[in-house]
Amino acid sequence: MENKVKKSNNLKYIILCLLIIILINIAGYFILNSVFEEDIVTNIGEKKIDISIQSDEELQLVKAEKFEIPEHISATVPIFMYHFILDDYGNFPDTENFLKPETLEEQLKYISENGYDTIYIDELDDLYKYDKPVALTFDDCFVYFYDNAFPLLKKYNQKATIFIITDYINGENYLTEDQLKEIADSGLVKIESHTKTHDYLDEMTYEEQLEQAVESKERLESITGQEVSVYCYPTGRYNQTTLDIIKDYYDFGLEMLGGVYDSDVDTNPYQIPRIYANRSMSLSTFASYLAQSRVYY
Ligand SMILES: [Zn+2]
Repeated sequence: MENKVKKSNNLKYIILCLLIIILINIAGYFILNSVFEEDIVTNIGEKKIDISIQSDEELQLVKAEKFEIPEHISATVPIFMYHFILDDYGNFPDTENFLKPETLEEQLKYISENGYDTIYIDELDDLYKYDKPVALTFDDCFVYFYDNAFPLLKKYNQKATIFIITDYINGENYLTEDQLKEIADSGLVKIESHTKTHDYLDEMTYEEQLEQAVESKERLESITGQEVSVYCYPTGRYNQTTLDIIKDYYDFGLEMLGGVYDSDVDTNPYQIPRIYANRSMSLSTFASYLAQSRVYY
């Protein structure tokens, strides 16, 4: 009898122990499982982060996707045409061609404070790089560009394209070769051709026009060591012969007038229109042209 009770007590004890072990296991399973899950999530999370941070290949792919050149973009770009940046125009007849240095400074300040991107003319093919492009171009130039415009471009860190008459180089009041080299080396100004002599292209023979286009390009390239790819027609005059010739030597041809450049309308790269930035242009008029700048896909 005593043995039976003992056996029964032992059995109860064993069952209780088993139950406790089972309960501990079950509890342990859930606790461990939740910790493991957390670990796995954390690890996966870290792994994901690690992949995106550490894999150069993946980074390159992301970059390539982000900066992929779109197949077609449209853009409107105000391209301003300046001539001389000088306070006192003396006896010169075309007074509107002389912009005060303080006016140019106001305009450059407005450009930089309002997030516009100054571009070179030869970047009209690369507008996907910009949000609010604007181009500043200076014709004829003379030494006034070096004295009054160039320091302001450097001060506001803005780009410009200048058009040089190559027979005038080193002439009285004109830019010297050394100045042109210094300007080109600044990285802020592209030097392009405004012909050799600034005569009317549409009154020249084919041979004369060819000489104007080719020799001016070669002279400038030999001075600056940089490619010349934009041709600016003196006083805006040119003809079909001009266009036939320059397509083999230049990427763009610039008119004097025509308004804001619109890539969907101005599809001929040798007939790029510009806006005349004259002496009496107000800052609000200047700003209203800038407001038309945009790039869209
Ligand atoms: Zn000119």
